[in-house]
Amino acid sequence: MDGNTDGHEAIWQIGVFDAHCHPTDIMASVQEITKMKARVLTVMATRSQDQVLVEDAARMYPGNTREDVSEGASRYVIPAFGWHPWFSHQMYNDVDGGAKATPSAAEHYKAVLVPAPDDAAFLESLPTPRSLRQFLEQTEARLTAFPFALVGEVGLDRSFRLPQGPSVVTEVMSCRCKTGGSEEEYTPGTREGRPLTPYRVTMEHQKAVLRAQLGLAAKLGRPVSVHSVQGHGVVFEVIQNMWKGHEKPSKRERKHKSHAHAHVADDGESGKVNDALPFPPRICMHSYSGPPDALKQFLGASVPADIYFSFSSAINFSNASTTKVTSVIKAVPDDRILVESDLHCAGETMDNLLEEIVLKVCEIKAWSLEEGARRLKDNYLKFLFG
Ligand SMILES: [Zn+2]
Repeated sequence: MDGNTDGHEAIWQIGVFDAHCHPTDIMASVQEITKMKARVLTVMATRSQDQVLVEDAARMYPGNTREDVSEGASRYVIPAFGWHPWFSHQMYNDVDGGAKATPSAAEHYKAVLVPAPDDAAFLESLPTPRSLRQFLEQTEARLTAFPFALVGEVGLDRSFRLPQGPSVVTEVMSCRCKTGGSEEEYTPGTREGRPLTPYRVTMEHQKAVLRAQLGLAAKLGRPVSVHSVQGHGVVFEVIQNMWKGHEKPSKRERKHKSHAHAHVADDGESGKVNDALPFPPRICMHSYSGPPDALKQFLGASVPADIYFSFSSAINFSNASTTKVTSVIKAVPDDRILVESDLHCAGETMDNLLEEIVLKVCEIKAWSLEEGARRLKDNYLKFLFG
C-alpha cells in the first residue's frame, strides 16, 4: 500500500498516459520514471541539446508493441522529436524557398529576429545557426528508429521573447523535483530563469520551421504535438494549406459517392505511387489555451486530420483563466481530449499533476474516475496508434 486511500487508485490501475512532458530537462529525474505511477510518458524534444536525451530515455523505457503501451506492467517512454518555436531562430531555412547558401550568423539573426539586433555582444552570444534541412534528415532517422515516435514539440509562439546571455551554460537551480538532492542540474539550453530581451522570432520564420516538421510527420504518417501561444489561427492556416484538396466531403457529397474514403484524394491526381498524405494524420494541441470558439475550426466537418486537445494542471489551471478552460474542456469532444503534465522532471510531482488534471477533467465532463480514466486511455492510444 502506498497510503492512497482516497479512492483515486482506480485511475492508476486503468493507466494514466502523459501526452506531453519534458523530463529530460532534468536528466537525473529520468531514473525516477521506474518508480512512477503513470504508465506512459510522451517525452518531447525541443532543441539541439535534448534530441539525444529523449532517445536515451526511450531506450531506457522501451514500449515496443501496442500491447506493452496499453497493458504492460512496466513504465514506458514514447519519444517525440522536434524543434520548439522558442529555439526556431537557431536554424536557418534551407528548405523550400529558403537560403541556398549558408548565411553568416549576423545576417541570419538580423533576418529572423524583430527588431533586427545590432547589439554585437548579443549577436555573439547566439549559437551558430544550423541547417533546417540537416535537422530534418537527423529527425527522420530518429523517427525511423522509433516506429511509435511522434513529431514534437513544434509550433508557433507569438508572445515569447529570446532570453539573454549564452544559451549553452549549465545552469544549476533549485527545483521542485525530488531526485535525491535539493539542487538539480538542468540540461543546457533551457530558458529557465534567464531575463528576456526585446527580440522575437518573425512569424514567417516560425511558420517555415513548423511547416517543414509537419511535412516530415506527414511523410512518415506520425502524430504531432503542437505548442501554440496566441497562434491558433495561424497554426490552423498552416495545416489547412497542407490538406488542401483532401478535405472530407460533406454529407451530400458523400451520398454521391458510394465508396467515400475521405482520406484518399479522389481528384484525378492518381499516378502517385506514394500514398502518404500531405498532412499529419493526428495532431495534438498541447496545453490548449485558445478560446472555445477557436475549437470549431479545428473540429470542422471537412477537417481530414484528427485533432486532439490536451490539458495540464500546471499551464491550464495555473492562472485566472480557469473559467475559460472549463468551458473549453466541456466543448472538446469526449474522444478528442488528452491529459499531460508538461513538467520538466519526472517523479512524484509529475504523478501528482497528472492525477490533478485527470480529476479535473472527470469533474468537468461529469465522468466517474473509472469512466474518465478509460476514455482518456482510449483517446491516447488512438492518438498514438491511429
Ligand atoms: Zn512542452
